[in-house]
Amino acid sequence: MFRRWRNCLAREFIWIALYSRRVDDHASPYREAMALAIAEAELATISGDLPIGALVLDESGVVIAKAGNRREATQDPTAHAEVLALRAAAQVRGDWHLDGCTLIVTLEPCPMCAGAAVLARVERIVFGAWNEEYGACGSHWDLPRDRRLNHRPEVVSGVLAEECGNLVRDFMANIRTQGGK
Ligand code: ZN
Repeated sequence: MFRRWRNCLAREFIWIALYSRRVDDHASPYREAMALAIAEAELATISGDLPIGALVLDESGVVIAKAGNRREATQDPTAHAEVLALRAAAQVRGDWHLDGCTLIVTLEPCPMCAGAAVLARVERIVFGAWNEEYGACGSHWDLPRDRRLNHRPEVVSGVLAEECGNLVRDFMANIRTQGGK
């Protein structure tokens, strides 16, 4: 009994180790793009928006759209960076099918944005920091790997995670110091 449990645990550890390595191996090609998304996130704070930035890369890795969170700026509850970047990318291509494209975003997408990425048929979602509260790409929910969906993008997590997370943490700390909302 104990041996069975121990073997099971060992398998789990191997899986975690492989999975972590896989994430690391995938992370490096997207660091440059994530740095651009971070720049978009920083711009979002000008309008008092939470610093989240997103890009869409085409099949060859060229940036075809970028956006920052604009919820406060536009008073639009759906104006998350990912949705705006996906819309802009569809405009550029003249096609809402974003097959072969990669969505890069500084924070793990919420259910709305993860759903939008699935519906846009992106090939891959790459995010920086985990979003323990609203994340829908593995932390709280896991839409891209929901087997009931007929399109399941690959998910790469943790690219420049610390920088991405610090943006949001610093912004929130600032608001608290100022006694704002
Ligand atoms: Zn969202």
